[in-house]
Amino acid sequence: MINSISGKWYPKDSSVQCAAQLTVAKTRYEVKIVSSETGNDSERHQNITGQWSQVTINDRLGNTERKLTLTDGSLFTTHNNDAIDTIINSNKNSDTASKWRLRLHRHETKMTSVLTMLVITVVFVFSFIKWGIPWTSQTVAHALPQQTGEFIGHQSLDFMDRYFLEPTQISDAKQQEITSRFEARLKPFGGNDNIQYRLHFRDMSIGGSSLPNAFALPSGDIILTDKFVELSQNDDEIDAVLLHEMGHVVERHSLEMLTQNSLTTMIVILVLGNPDGISELATGLGTALVSNHYSRQYETEADEFAFNRMLKIGIDPQAFVDILSRMEEYSTVAENTEDGNKSENKREQETKANDEAVEEDKISDFLSTHPRTQLRIKMANRYSKCFEQKLTVCE
Ligand SMILES: [Zn+2]
Repeated sequence: MINSISGKWYPKDSSVQCAAQLTVAKTRYEVKIVSSETGNDSERHQNITGQWSQVTINDRLGNTERKLTLTDGSLFTTHNNDAIDTIINSNKNSDTASKWRLRLHRHETKMTSVLTMLVITVVFVFSFIKWGIPWTSQTVAHALPQQTGEFIGHQSLDFMDRYFLEPTQISDAKQQEITSRFEARLKPFGGNDNIQYRLHFRDMSIGGSSLPNAFALPSGDIILTDKFVELSQNDDEIDAVLLHEMGHVVERHSLEMLTQNSLTTMIVILVLGNPDGISELATGLGTALVSNHYSRQYETEADEFAFNRMLKIGIDPQAFVDILSRMEEYSTVAENTEDGNKSENKREQETKANDEAVEEDKISDFLSTHPRTQLRIKMANRYSKCFEQKLTVCE
């Protein structure tokens, strides 16, 4: 659509008056300077073009001259008000279209931002569970004073003595021997003077069979079971396991695990509004400590702690592999034996069978604390090579 409107043009900051023609095509306008009133060709002006939407048009006052301020600041005036109104109206329509386009664009932007927010939320929640909780737990666990560890440790030992552990059958002399060697040989490498290490001897039997196990409480109390002592073939094997447990204490693994469990449970309570979670939390603590169910990362950290100290003390890391393999072997045999018993007593009461199933789970659970035995053996072998070369540091 092209409209040509006659009028007068006045350059910016000048009294010169020229005859001019305004044309508007689509979004652009052009003012053609036809002639200057003075008729002086040397003062001929360039045509002016620009965006029609940037032209300021004053409101119509009857049939008085209409003033249009152009993009360069110059002025175009005309008496042809109707033509100007026509242009304004036709542009209004396209304004509406562009408004719709804008709205659609805004809508699309909104959809994009909603999706973006959704993705951010999912990523945030995932990251919080994956990294936030472990990180918070680690920070909290390491910020807690040692007294907290002692309190939790003593409470846990009381709890375990009541439900899982039985008095030891190991002779006083043997207990004294292990404890004295622990004090003299291992304690100086305990890594932290604030930790009050203490050894405890207990029997731990499940389903009538005594289990080899060793575990540490956050207080520095380390429990050795009768079967573990029985299965060990020399001092180095016992000490290797004790060093591993000291690693768990120094690195505050059980406190981290407790904090992590507590945080997760609290979040579950918050999200589901389920107060049953609180009692679950309480039972979870005890069970987790007894089953010694540490993550692979914790085990690796404790292994590294132990191997590094073993090189300094003069214990071949191979001793750790030896006792670990023997414990696993024994547990597997115990598990198979129990399977045999189960088929023999197949016709016994159903409740008995159910009990056995639970017991079997517990043994498997114990085994699951050594999920990557091959990897651990590989690391031990690496340290053992360093030991053979009489190195005190293994890189
Ligand atoms: Zn461990």
